[in-house]
Amino acid sequence: MARIQTDIILFGGGIAGLWALNRLLQSGYSAVLLESAGLGGVQTLSSQGIIHGGTKYALSGALSDSAKAIGAMPGRWRACLTGHGELDLSAVRISAEHQYLWSTEGLASKLAGFFAGKLMQSRMRALDAAEAPALFQTQDFRGRLYRLDEPVLDIPSLIEVLSVQARHRCFHLAEQAWEPLPGGKGIRLQEGTELHGQSIVLCAGAGNEALLRRFGRSTPAMQLRPLHMLMARGRLPLLYGHCLGASANPRLTITSHRDEEGRVVWYLGGQPAESGVTRGFEEQIEAGRRELAVVLPWVDFTAVEWSSFRVDRAEPEQPGGKRPDSSFLDAAEGLITLWPTKLAFAPLLADRLLTTLEDQGIAPRGSDTAHIPLPPAAQAAPPWERAQRWI
Ligand SMILES: Cc1cc2nc3c(=O)[nH]c(=O)nc-3n(C[C@H](O)[C@H](O)[C@H](O)COP(=O)(O)OP(=O)(O)OC[C@H]3O[C@@H](n4cnc5c(N)ncnc54)[C@H](O)[C@@H]3O)c2cc1C
Repeated sequence: MARIQTDIILFGGGIAGLWALNRLLQSGYSAVLLESAGLGGVQTLSSQGIIHGGTKYALSGALSDSAKAIGAMPGRWRACLTGHGELDLSAVRISAEHQYLWSTEGLASKLAGFFAGKLMQSRMRALDAAEAPALFQTQDFRGRLYRLDEPVLDIPSLIEVLSVQARHRCFHLAEQAWEPLPGGKGIRLQEGTELHGQSIVLCAGAGNEALLRRFGRSTPAMQLRPLHMLMARGRLPLLYGHCLGASANPRLTITSHRDEEGRVVWYLGGQPAESGVTRGFEEQIEAGRRELAVVLPWVDFTAVEWSSFRVDRAEPEQPGGKRPDSSFLDAAEGLITLWPTKLAFAPLLADRLLTTLEDQGIAPRGSDTAHIPLPPAAQAAPPWERAQRWI
């Protein structure tokens, strides 16, 4: 029976797994990433690609200490995107260098207080009419407009770059096509090959819970926060931004993408995605139409086609199901479990993984060149390519 020894076995090829894999290989570890569907997987390709620096969260008041860590993330990503960071992401397409933040209602005082914070001053700039993008250069726009210094990435190109850099290390392995080895330090593939690792790292997003169970563990506990995202495609300008409403969280977040036919797709998140989980397809689309008519009343959306889809955010369980404000790593009984909680946190989470391995005395033992009898993992498609129904 074939026995393959590698340093680290990773489950899951979203941002957490791919970033970690690249950092591990760079640090001299041999590593294998096993993906049960497609690379980029579930949440990562469904994300809006915003490299948050905490601005959105600062709207709700003071940032907690752990959340402050997010302030360093845009800078770290930008270093990678210019080829000067820990990973070379210079080939990743940047959809937008900045986002816009606009208000529709009388929110001037709220915004003034918000911009008084030092963090915000360094990130945000009020724009006068001449600097506004064409979409806002209309007398019908009566709110205030700010430019937010946080980039938005083209996620399919990010996944492609990260997986090309780790090519030959990402494999497709169906969920039931293996079993854990006694002792939990490896797995047996269906055809009999044993894959042993010094450590097993679970970065399978919503799949972590089932994987933990499979390895005989019931913790750490996971929570799912469901979202019902909206997509609108057609003759639309490119827009990346948040519309502020009366509450602390953005009323609506819009990012723009191009589908394979070159059409612009607006991808809508924020409050409608959260409040829309109880709505059906048509009802959610109707809510989306109404929302756009309020936040961008001067734009004509009559020729736009709509679709929606559901996805869960997978995170470590929080009291009251709250959203976590930092990345998560648990290391116990030979398994390491990761949830980045945000795309933006992937670099920090990989640091934490490397430190944990070092603390556990798991050092690189060199590269393994044995043939792994699994097919390569292919890349998954973003939601606007997968949607079957547009109305
Ligand atoms: C709608 C939406 C919008 C978001 N927007 C943003 C944003 O703009 N900015 C931001 O910073 N964050 C955003 N996030 C959060 C961010 O996308 C996630 O925190 C991050 O992508 C999670 O990455 P991950 O690698 O842990 O999980 P995933 O991307 O879900 O990847 C997990 C992978 O594991 C695989 N897998 C599952 N089970 C198994 C198994 N048994 N064996 C092998 N593989 C398995 C899956 O197929 C998948 O490919 C958003 C999330 C959502 C849902």
